[in-house]
Amino acid sequence: MVPSYKNFIAGQWVDAVSHARFENRNPADTRDLVGFFADSSAEDVGRAVRAAAQAFPAWRACPAPLRGEFLYRTGEILKQRKEQIARDMTREMGKILLEARGDVQEAIDMAFWMAGEGRRLYGKTTPSELPNKFNMSVRMPVGVCGIITPWNFPMAIPSWKIFPALICGDTCVLKPATDTPLSAINFIKALEDAGVPPGVVNLITGKGADVGAALVDHDQVQIVSFTGSTATGREVATKCAPSFKKHNLEMGGKNVIMILDDAELNLAVDGAVWGAFGTSGQRCTASSRMVVHKKVYREFLKEFARRARNLSVGNGMKPRTEMGPIINQKQKDSILNWIDIGKKEGATIYLGGRPLEKGNYRHGFFIEPTIFSDVHPQMQIAQEEIFGPVANVLSCSSLEEAIEIANGVRYGLSASIYTRDVNRAFVAVREMYTGIFYVNSPTIGAEIHLPFGGTKNTGNGHREAAEATLDVFSEWKAIYIDYSGRLQRAQIDVGE
Ligand code: NAD
Repeated sequence: MVPSYKNFIAGQWVDAVSHARFENRNPADTRDLVGFFADSSAEDVGRAVRAAAQAFPAWRACPAPLRGEFLYRTGEILKQRKEQIARDMTREMGKILLEARGDVQEAIDMAFWMAGEGRRLYGKTTPSELPNKFNMSVRMPVGVCGIITPWNFPMAIPSWKIFPALICGDTCVLKPATDTPLSAINFIKALEDAGVPPGVVNLITGKGADVGAALVDHDQVQIVSFTGSTATGREVATKCAPSFKKHNLEMGGKNVIMILDDAELNLAVDGAVWGAFGTSGQRCTASSRMVVHKKVYREFLKEFARRARNLSVGNGMKPRTEMGPIINQKQKDSILNWIDIGKKEGATIYLGGRPLEKGNYRHGFFIEPTIFSDVHPQMQIAQEEIFGPVANVLSCSSLEEAIEIANGVRYGLSASIYTRDVNRAFVAVREMYTGIFYVNSPTIGAEIHLPFGGTKNTGNGHREAAEATLDVFSEWKAIYIDYSGRLQRAQIDVGE
């Protein structure tokens, strides 16, 4: 019996108004039907937004430390259910079990971090320029947040948005990706079981063009928090612009590892393999470019390919698997198309480049770990996000050239350098215009208490995680209290 899952509105699990449903299948084996999910419409979104708007006054009035208690309880529940949730995630999304556990762990960490924030939510007190006057600033909640998330971190990313929104006193409507609705349902169930009041969090599953667009358009949604592709992010921003709706966008990347001639080469290869092929390269921070000093280029390439060739590709549920499937047929086609483009542009396929379609692979979406060598910085494969297990190796002859190549893309999410020279490492730290930078490790592996996000076409100036995310989900209010008993004009109004 294949389970059928519902939307969550005002504390109730309900079918879509139309009763339409869509299927969700395991990308490692499409014979495995994970479940049926509500294929919702703008009408369902309207109901969820109204529920969130009705719940807002009471939720914002609930003291922040008490709101934090709900998050602590949610974190505890996620801890208890971690293994089952991770298994569900691997089944619907494909990432290997070890990585799925990490995805759930991010949500647990974020629950506890933001629960603690309930006792801080620091504002500032500052002196006034006038006597007998007191100044301070406080954060205020904004209202209903429309949360739109991708499939590649199906629990971590909703948690990065919903926990800070809740601690700030906002209420939420979540619209997860159609490829990973079960992980979103598992997340919302944990919040429900932690006793979060009805209407504070709501979930609507369905297509981006229907549910996502309706959420962005709804005039009772005050904030849109979006993570996904740069193309969709641009659409979201365009729709938010006329009414100046607050929106934070976390989008694509074209991340780079620079490997200098003094690098510890084995360490760099370890990092490159993990950074390029972890989650089958389907991470926004995936290491998709290796810019390698010409003195060590051949040696690195040979060892990188040897290690990538030996990766065990398969169903992420199996303990020995190191790289799982691609999320769906469309994404597989898109990656294979990029591989064709790379060949036509004159790059050399040094490893892989083909779909895996025989034997155990025949019912899933698999591609060989692929390495292009002789890649020129201006080739499209070196400029555009591929979002698959495809690494491009470029050569450079100095730190300066490496930095120029590394910065020479329209994205600015994550970068790293391998060198044993602290001086050169710090020059790269200073010069790279990315939101995240690593020394002697790959471009993936962010921790939740540091700001996460990127520059240029990766973001629109906000950061998620850490304290920085509170700026997305709250507005500042500056407060002046005059206890002098007379009109005191501010310095700008005295005219001297
Ligand atoms: P996507 O843009 O196709 O979809 C993201 C979400 O937006 C989904 O829930 C989708 O249904 C919804 N959506 C689609 N069209 C919409 C519309 N017109 N209006 C509103 N919502 C709509 O992205 P994806 O394929 O799910 O995810 C992969 C992308 O996400 C990659 O580009 C990756 O780099 C990016 N990503 C970025 C970060 C980051 O923090 N920077 C993290 C993870 C993934």
